[in-house]
Amino acid sequence: MYRIPFNRPFIVGKELYYIAQSVLSGKIAGDGLFTKKCERFLENRFDSDRFLLTHSCTAALEMAAILCKIGPGDEIILPSFTFVSTANAFYLRGAKMIFVDIRPDTLNIDETKIEEAITPQTKAIVPVHYAGAACEMETIMSIAKDHDLMVVEDAAQGLDAKYKDKYLGTIGDIGAFSFHETKNVICGEGGAICLNSKKLIERAEIIREKGTDRSKFFRGEIDKYTWMDIGSSYLPSDIVAAFLFAQLENIDQIGWKRKSLFDYYYDRLQPLAAEGHLELPYISKESSSNNHMLYILLRDEDARNEIIDRMKSNDILSVFHYLPLHQSPVGRQMGYADGELPVTESISRRLLRLPFYYELTQKEQNQVVNTIIKYFSA
Ligand SMILES: *Cc1c(COP(=O)(O)O)cnc(C)c1O
Repeated sequence: MYRIPFNRPFIVGKELYYIAQSVLSGKIAGDGLFTKKCERFLENRFDSDRFLLTHSCTAALEMAAILCKIGPGDEIILPSFTFVSTANAFYLRGAKMIFVDIRPDTLNIDETKIEEAITPQTKAIVPVHYAGAACEMETIMSIAKDHDLMVVEDAAQGLDAKYKDKYLGTIGDIGAFSFHETKNVICGEGGAICLNSKKLIERAEIIREKGTDRSKFFRGEIDKYTWMDIGSSYLPSDIVAAFLFAQLENIDQIGWKRKSLFDYYYDRLQPLAAEGHLELPYISKESSSNNHMLYILLRDEDARNEIIDRMKSNDILSVFHYLPLHQSPVGRQMGYADGELPVTESISRRLLRLPFYYELTQKEQNQVVNTIIKYFSA
């Protein structure tokens, strides 16, 4: 364990109390009291028709792939600069990954390169809102409409962030969220799927409940439930939802704290950016961020790796990601080669994420910043 770890899970309110309540309620399986509380909270806050809790964002993305009726030979357009689940959910259904490069400013999919990637086999576009900064959703939605494609937003990092006046994950047909312990609002492992089209809601409930219409049965709409469709078990225990609800109740407080952490890093690192040593995150004016992370972009891979080592010798953990998916063993099997997505490859070599978590103190942030300042003044 590092003195200043990269991430630290936290408790912000009544997490343990609600877990006890959930246990005493007599139902700790899925779709209990706290699952419903979380879903209604998310629907109200983000002005959406339907949220369903899942056990992870990965599960929400797998549900999305089923809802989009993806099958072998279908093509999906997505960035290569993302977490593996964005791709794997669709790859599991036999889809072909069409990786598109990212923009050098927001690090999100380059919307000007989407149209040229579309073929008659294309079924969906999967934009990823990296670091909680919005993709250019207006352009993406209009391309999708012109070509009759589904849009699945990977909003794993985008909870409570906005594009124009709309919350991320509520703009496309489907949105997928994560409450993994490294995200803004957490419950260990957890996620949610947001359905923005009424016709998807009923099928989503079935897919999430092992392919049965058990949700209707629980609502008393039918007197027995049965096998209706493909599906799996994608719902979390109500104990997990109890933890999550306590976090959601404090979503504003979590947001303010993260903003202050982000602003402190940003202000302190600004002089180094002005001197050309590093680049700081860019947030477009259409976007209001949830301050999911603070990354810096160094001049080259050597500088990035040297700073990681400096941090380690000061007992601080800073990390990088993503190894681009098109350069992974699976990506290479698909026929991708080095050099095909130059922006993605360059960013992946130069990006560094600084420690960022709810309980991080200003004193600790100061130590992180000073390590970087010292590196450049040597
Ligand atoms: C965290 C993350 C996921 C996966 O979330 P889980 O809840 O761990 O399954 C997917 N996509 C992106 C962009 C992520 O950051």
